[in-house]
This record gives sequence, structure tokens and C-alpha cells, in this order.
Amino acid sequence: MNLHQQVVEAFQQHFGGEPDIVVRAPGRVNLIGEHTDYNGGFVMPMAINRAMFMAIRYRGDSEVHLLSADFGHGARFDLQEFEYQKPHWCEYIKGVANGLKQRNLPLKGFDAAMLGNVPRGSGLSSSAALELAAAKAFSEVSNFPWDPVEMAVVGQEAENNWVGVNCGIMDQMISSCAQAGHAYLLDCRSLEGEHVPLPEGVKVVILDTATRRGLVDSAYNERRSQCEEAAAFFGCELLRDVEIDTFMAREDELPDLTRKRARHVITEDVRTLAAAEAMKTGDSKKLGALMDESHVSLRDDFEVSNDALNTMVETAQAQPGCLGARMTGAGFGGCAVALVEDAHVDAFVEQVPTAYQQKTDLEPAVYVTEATQGACRYHA
Ligand code: ADP
Ligand code: MG
Repeated sequence: MNLHQQVVEAFQQHFGGEPDIVVRAPGRVNLIGEHTDYNGGFVMPMAINRAMFMAIRYRGDSEVHLLSADFGHGARFDLQEFEYQKPHWCEYIKGVANGLKQRNLPLKGFDAAMLGNVPRGSGLSSSAALELAAAKAFSEVSNFPWDPVEMAVVGQEAENNWVGVNCGIMDQMISSCAQAGHAYLLDCRSLEGEHVPLPEGVKVVILDTATRRGLVDSAYNERRSQCEEAAAFFGCELLRDVEIDTFMAREDELPDLTRKRARHVITEDVRTLAAAEAMKTGDSKKLGALMDESHVSLRDDFEVSNDALNTMVETAQAQPGCLGARMTGAGFGGCAVALVEDAHVDAFVEQVPTAYQQKTDLEPAVYVTEATQGACRYHA
């Protein structure tokens, strides 16, 4: 039974009767462009074949009744009056409702069963999938037009201001705007994006190290202020605006750590734009090489990798048919992403986890993924 059938069944069992519609919003993996988002730079995520599904039935009133089939319990709130209660999956949905209300969008209530297969907390953005599924649900039920960029911002605000998690805009933008078969080159300053086709003959493989980012907030904030410091040195608000030549001409004047952090961000923007060009010409080898370079930069200059990620990346890179691999996401744990030639994918999926497990004693997860569509009404 696929996820669509399962969520419909969960709805039938919990609420009785049939849902009117089903919506789907995907998780994501970032191919290249890491720690560039809050520097106003470029990222290139793609939506994966794992998503949050919501089976929805309109109600005539202002109440939202929810079942999380994953957690096995429900939650409800009234759209006319609700407030933050405690850390809970329902708060993501309330946060989205709050953002929509602030925009004066008329909201109507619904019953919904939710089921997702984006692994939670591994950096594939189950939270953005949840936020965009919720936004899509409200848009369908309340019948207001779907503005993908605005809805991504609503999702980010829900996460930043309601749930209280500091995140950039990338995850919500890709969960909202993605096009099947394409990655999305996103300018994080203007929020303008371009759909870039994935090269033929290769698969994107996600490798979960089974390590989780701990104590990441302080390191993240430290990186952010180092980036701000470097931008200020060059008289810019964001590192995005520092040209690589300008940087190279004066980098010696910067303190060692600040220089390394800035070098990562500035070169990563260059690599991300180059990756988009490579994809447009179908040059998967070049794309892979840029992913390898990105990893080295994140490991040595930005220093956000960990032993497990480095081992996973090296194990992947040593496999036949692997064109490139890197850590993906904020770092300090979570997932790596690899580009693998079709003919070698089966062997890759078999070999890499075994080799990784032998080296680390950790049990990894592997997902071969396609690029899927952003948040939408789902037709089976
Ligand atoms: P991620 O890296 O996966 O986005 P987060 O910590 O940002 O990790 O978000 C995970 C949280 O999102 C969960 O703790 C839960 O509150 C919510 N969430 C994610 N997936 C689901 C789901 N399938 N059902 C209910 N809540 C979910
Ligand atoms: Mg998240």
C-alpha cells in the first residue's frame, strides 16, 4: 500500500467516511550550496520522493481536527482563537494558520489525517514538508489562490516565530516550488529561482549517517556571526556581495577563522552557479566534481562536518560510478548526498552501507531519490 492509500485509510478509520482531497508536500535534499542561504547566496535543493500527505475533509465550521497517523494521536484547535501551547507537531500547523490569518486570508476548518515518510530530524526537512502540506490544505479548503513563494515564507515564519526554530528559507521554498525532474537554483536574497534539470543517467542517493546534530545551535550562531563579520570587513551586508577577486585580494587581512568561513561561503556560491551551468549542459561529471569540492570546503574551511559524514562521503566516493559526494544540510551529523551513475546504483546501495557500518559501527539509511513536484493536490 502506498502512502496515499495509507493516509486515506487512516482518515477512514479515525474520522469515518471519505476525505474530499489529499495534498502532498515533499522533503528535500540540497545538492550544493551549503551555509550560503543566510549569506544571501545560492542554494540548489531538490524535492525528494518522500513527503507529508494529508487526507482532508471540509468542515462547515472553524475547527481543525487532526490525526497524526505517524504519532498515533490527534490534536485540534479553533481557527478563531488559538495560541502556542507546548512543543508538539500541531504547533507547526497552528503557526501556518497564524501566518495566513496575519495575511488576512479567510480560513475554514477541516478534518485531516496526516502521514509522512520524510525521516524526522535527519535533515531532509520533514518540518518544511509538514508546513507546506498544511498551507496547501488551508489553501484548498479555504479556496484562496496558491502563491508558492508567499506560502514558503508563511512556512518559514511558522518555524522561526511560532515553533521557535531558526532556519533559512531554502527548505520551504523547495517544498513549495519544486518541479519534477528538476533541482531549483534559488537566490536566497531575491527569492528568485530557476528550475534546473537533473542530468540523465544518474541518480541522487541520500546517505543518512545515523548521527544527529547535537549542540548545533551555538556552532550555527557562531558561523553566522563570523560570516557577518567578514561581510562587514568588505563593507557589505552579506557575503553574497563579496566578489571572489575582492576576497582574494584582501583575505590576508582577516583573522584566520573568519577568513576560512568567508572563503567557504564565497567559493560555495561560485560552485553552486557552476553546478547549475553543468546541469544545463548535462555534465554530470562536472556536477559531481563540484559536490566533492563543496565537501572539502565544508570540512576544512567551514568546519561543520563530523567523522561520520567524512567517512560516509569517502566511502561513497570510493565506489565505482560515484561521480561526487558531500555532506548536506547544516552539518555535525545527518545526511550526505551522492551522485551515482544509473548502472552502478544497485551495487552502490548495497556496498556503501556495509562498508560504512564496518568502519563506524553505525547503521546508516540509504534513499535513492527522484526529483518530485512541490506542494500540490495529489491525484492517485
Ligand atoms: P527535520 O530535519 O526533519 O525538518 P525538524 O526537527 O525540523 O527535523 O522537524 C521535525 C518535527 O516536525 C517533528 O518533531 C514533528 O514535530 C514535525 N513532524 C515532522 N514529520 C512529521 C509527521 N510525519 N507527523 C507529525 N509531525 C511531524
Ligand atoms: Mg526542519
